[in-house]
Amino acid sequence: MRRLFAGLWLVLTTGVAMAAAVPSPLQLRTLSASNPRELIVQVRAALDAGVYVNHPAGEREALWWMGHAGVNLSDDAAVTEAVARLKSLGSVGHDTLAQSYAGFLSADLRILRGDGGGVSDALQAAAIQLDSDDPAHRALAKFQLCDAYSMAGQYEHSQPLCEDADAAFGALHDDWNQAQAKNDEGNNAYALGQYGKAGAFYRQAQALYEKVGDHSQALMVGDNLAQVYLKQGKPQQAIVLSRASLVDERAAGRESDAMNSQYDIARALQAMGRQREAMELIATTVAEARKAHLDAQLPELLAEQSRMAEAGGNLKLALASEREAMQVAGAHWQASLRSQQAELGARYAAREKEVRIQALERNNQVKALKLKAAQTDVARNALQLRRQRGTLVAVMVAALSLVLGLVSLLLLLRSQRRHARELRRQAHEDPLTGVDNRRGFFQRVQALLDRRDSDAPPLHVLLLFDFDYFKRVNDRCGHPFGDIVLNVSLQCLRGVVAGRGCLARLGGEEFVVLCPHLGGAEALQLAEDMRVAIGALKFPDAPDDLEVTISIGLALFDGVHCRDVGSWLRAADNAMYAAKARGRDQIVVAQQVETLLRQVGMAPRAAE
Ligand code: GH3
Ligand code: MG
Ligand code: MG
Repeated sequence: MRRLFAGLWLVLTTGVAMAAAVPSPLQLRTLSASNPRELIVQVRAALDAGVYVNHPAGEREALWWMGHAGVNLSDDAAVTEAVARLKSLGSVGHDTLAQSYAGFLSADLRILRGDGGGVSDALQAAAIQLDSDDPAHRALAKFQLCDAYSMAGQYEHSQPLCEDADAAFGALHDDWNQAQAKNDEGNNAYALGQYGKAGAFYRQAQALYEKVGDHSQALMVGDNLAQVYLKQGKPQQAIVLSRASLVDERAAGRESDAMNSQYDIARALQAMGRQREAMELIATTVAEARKAHLDAQLPELLAEQSRMAEAGGNLKLALASEREAMQVAGAHWQASLRSQQAELGARYAAREKEVRIQALERNNQVKALKLKAAQTDVARNALQLRRQRGTLVAVMVAALSLVLGLVSLLLLLRSQRRHARELRRQAHEDPLTGVDNRRGFFQRVQALLDRRDSDAPPLHVLLLFDFDYFKRVNDRCGHPFGDIVLNVSLQCLRGVVAGRGCLARLGGEEFVVLCPHLGGAEALQLAEDMRVAIGALKFPDAPDDLEVTISIGLALFDGVHCRDVGSWLRAADNAMYAAKARGRDQIVVAQQVETLLRQVGMAPRAAE
């Protein structure tokens, strides 16, 4: 019985659009029916050219039709290859439809080889799709099961499944696939001897194929119908159908199908009693099949020739044909087994290599993406770094200029401070002797008096002194020498006064020592120390009889007689002049101090 191509038309029409080089689903289906060998060649070429590398859905459909073409041509190698590739697609891409396709095709292959276990393959493959949400997938699963059971010869099991598939495709308005289901229903009915039913199914199938414009399939169903007519004793009707089919097959170069049609015509001729014509046609058919190396079909044709020869009394030919049939069958199966093994080995190796290359390419793509991401990160970081560097440089420049500005400001400030200090020093210091000048003295004495914090007498003392007969020094030794005398004397007095009072120049060669809280007795002692120190001074290059002495007036700040700077200075000045008047080189204390000193047992000379 002629097997037709089953397919999932809805899946194909809604499938992924493929590139121009990839055959469309319709082209694949049409070609698989009209020229299955060409389809296998084309699909293999497309696979080898890598046309499907980025079209896994396209590859799946192409392999499905290649597998069918293989089943139709009994080309085990093509079916096995399609199954292996579909399995790989299914596992790599988690494509359940590809897994089901692989299962259905391997089921067909096993069944064709006479392995009844193929049905369990079909059951497993169908199980994947029977729960599918897609009614087209469920309908396909039912049809494939029906087809598998039918091929395996389990027609009773097959028939209800085919009826289900028939109804399911009908509901989907999928005429082409419904025609497939009806053809299988016809095959089952035929095998069960229900020729009337079979004829009806075949005619329905033919009508559906004609409706969708698939004349090749319609003619193939006609071949099946011809078998029914032969069984029903209607060889004339059978021969019409088979001849129509033969014309189409010859035109399409489908030699194998043409051999089958000629075989059917020969049988019809024999049924019509045209023995000689039948014998001639079967002999021609056998010769053509031999020439075309149709070794798979040749044994059956030879067997028919043997049967016809035997029926015609030509036992010699009957025996020869039967022998040849057995030889060809044995040789064909051995050769096809070897070539299948060799081809499969080669294609498996190629496929494995392909899968490995694809995996490597995927890895490389992932690596390239990671690398790109890393490069982008690096570039971004570099940009950020450059920006940060730019900002850093700007900040550093700003900071540096700030620091420089601050430093120069600081230096300026320091020099100004130094300058101010110098000015202040100059303003408060006597340039010749380095002691306070008159202004310095007044500031210091005012500050001391302002700090008064108790009512008790503070016992501050002023020692006012003037060099004796200094005019004479200048006159005898020169003014510069006079300067030296003043300078040396004051440096000497610094040491004497240190810790007890503070020296200041009031003007000319008149000086004062301000002694805070020193008290009368201590101050008297200090004055004496000063007088003695100056008297003991020796000046190099000075005349031997040169005497340098000072007269000192002492006044105590008691808050009564001396209650401010003016009264205090006046008292000290009076005392100093008293010392001059009394002969110089001596100390005179102000009146109030004398009283105090007498109380502590001292008897200084007081100013009058
Ligand atoms: P006495 O005070 O003992 O009465 O006599 P005297 O000669 O010192 O008289 P007086 O104090 O009035 O004269 C001060 C003299 O000191 C006048 C001035 O020429 C001199 N003199 C003042 N200042 C300086 C100075 O800085 N350098 C020098 N070399 N002489 C000065
Ligand atoms: Mg003097
Ligand atoms: Mg003087």
